Amino acid sequence: MPETIIYTFFFAFGAAAGSFLNVCIRRIPEARSIVSPGSQCPSCSSPIRFYDNIPIISYIVLGGRCRHCRATISAEYPLVETLTAVLTVLLYVRFGLSPGLAVYFVFTAALIVITFIDLRLRIIPDVISLPGIGVGLAASAVRAFPWGWSQLVNGLSGSFLGILAGGGILLVVATAYNLVTGREGMGGGDIKLLAMIGAFLGWKGALFTLFAGSFAGAVVGGILMLFFGKDIKYAVPFGPFLALGALVHLFSGEAILGWYIKTQFLL
Ligand SMILES: [Zn+2]
Repeated sequence: MPETIIYTFFFAFGAAAGSFLNVCIRRIPEARSIVSPGSQCPSCSSPIRFYDNIPIISYIVLGGRCRHCRATISAEYPLVETLTAVLTVLLYVRFGLSPGLAVYFVFTAALIVITFIDLRLRIIPDVISLPGIGVGLAASAVRAFPWGWSQLVNGLSGSFLGILAGGGILLVVATAYNLVTGREGMGGGDIKLLAMIGAFLGWKGALFTLFAGSFAGAVVGGILMLFFGKDIKYAVPFGPFLALGALVHLFSGEAILGWYIKTQFLL
């Protein structure tokens, strides 16, 4: 029974965090403050009262409409809140009450904000990915708990290699693609995002993320091209697929890598 209470707590905490992430997703690209003013209806600008601002629940109670002007509220809001809540519970299941839980919660939150901004606007704000690289590096020291000198050195060097691998590989690929085709295939935002992912997950995690993300991107891009023609190729952002690859690695990457190596080299 206590376990159920802990799950409920993390779900509610995650939903509330998701509500804040919605504010970040809307305001960061416009360089507006994420603290004030409080939540407003995007249509009529009337302030949203606390009882209309309960994550997930308020959206359902209000039928997805503003209480004052009845304008439709984007389903993205409850989607982000539910996604954050579910991932928070899964992070607790994966990491228990440990420094890793706090570190990867921050990482996951950053990935969610980046994903939804990239989907809507096709940009990955530097204001998230660049500090994220620093936070990932610092977090590798936090995760080395209980701190011994060698754990600390291992953690920091692993994170540093991850930054080099993640940022470096995409930089080389993007430069080569640009030289050969004369087109810009990959934005600088993707390069900085994979550097951030490497800072949190190390070089193996960065490589896994790149391969898993490219694979998922190719599959989804292929399906979309089938239905909407090849112009869609340039309309599919890469950031969300990198975020997906990073989350897959976070939850089961070691297991998948182990399985892959086993089937490739031992059978
Ligand atoms: Zn309104």
